[in-house]
Amino acid sequence: MKFVIATLPGDGIGPEITEQACAVLNKVGQLYGHSFEFKEYLVGGAAIDKVGEPLPAETLAGCLASDSVLLGAVGGPKWDNLTGDIRPEQALLGLRGELGLYANLRPAVLYEALRDACLLRPDLIGDGIDIMVVRELTGGIYFGDSGRRQGPNGEEAYDTELYSEMEVERIARTAFEIAMKRNKRVTNVDKANVLESSRLWRSVVLRVAEDYPEVELNHLYVDNASMQLIRDPHQFDVIVTTNMFGDILSDEASMITGSIGMLPSASLGEGRFGMYEPIHGSAPDIAGLDKANPIATILSAAMMLRYSFDLEAEAQAVENAVIQVLDAGYRTGDIFSPGMKLVSCKEMGTLIAEALK
Ligand code: NAD
Repeated sequence: MKFVIATLPGDGIGPEITEQACAVLNKVGQLYGHSFEFKEYLVGGAAIDKVGEPLPAETLAGCLASDSVLLGAVGGPKWDNLTGDIRPEQALLGLRGELGLYANLRPAVLYEALRDACLLRPDLIGDGIDIMVVRELTGGIYFGDSGRRQGPNGEEAYDTELYSEMEVERIARTAFEIAMKRNKRVTNVDKANVLESSRLWRSVVLRVAEDYPEVELNHLYVDNASMQLIRDPHQFDVIVTTNMFGDILSDEASMITGSIGMLPSASLGEGRFGMYEPIHGSAPDIAGLDKANPIATILSAAMMLRYSFDLEAEAQAVENAVIQVLDAGYRTGDIFSPGMKLVSCKEMGTLIAEALK
């Protein structure tokens, strides 16, 4: 089969990690008889530097004309002092909104080989950790009305959390559908004791749950959820939550799986089109040093094979190749522990491509 993939390397370590994910996809193509055509576009700070805006129209059009999108990361200190609407991170919100990608799937899996990299006590890890965070991606406080104004005590700034029933219903349905294919447990995370938007959110989740009687549903306030993730991660199967709470909780979940460099994500809307990216940022502190862990991006490419291209065997082949390389003791700096073999970003990508069967 033939697929067109828009690649958006972006800033910092973005180009290094996307290069490795593309190399792995090319190897999948060779082994399984598919052709992946990569079309590269500007995004983030790199786009601001070249054309003055973080999400050029050509990039958006290129994404819309592709079968899926692979994104590295955007942002960095060079662009930190720009104003709100021309910051690199605006490109992410623009892409998610314009492409209608309302469901962000963030699996947090602790690989057996990385038990040592996990910050939790061994008795808390038990027989492993496997959580799917389902984060709403095109609503809430990141998309609500925001601004500045003069108030009695000087300048004021505000951001608004707003959710419609439709927005909550579709993300809740996504979470319940995923839970049906996993361990049939959904934890809804909100702040219904304080926020009106959370009270609407919870009532809609409860309504959707009636269509999934086999799924066990519980509710946690976000402050409790952030504590429970560390105290007893095994209680979670699927977590469904808002844009901002999901952003924060999935970073927290990443640390119990070893490193933020391990966590992939898929952003989906209606249909098969999706955008795939690691959950981490552009890591300016290690950019250009060939030190970044490319596994989160490579696993994002595996999610692309699964969700956008319906190539389950190929997706599993990539995931198995990652496990094989980790089992053989190869580690980038972020997941390194004594006795392991330290490798660069490029070497890790090559090892995974070579391990593919
Ligand atoms: P970050 O995720 O870039 O980095 C946090 C820490 O994790 C750093 O020490 C970094 O070296 C390390 N790290 C991250 N990814 C790694 C990898 N693959 N391998 C090894 N180590 C890795 O977060 P930050 O420092 O808060 O943000 C840096 C920039 O990235 C900011 O401009 C921020 O706005 C942007 N950002 C972008 C995205 C995105 O593009 N989706 C997400 C988050 C942050």
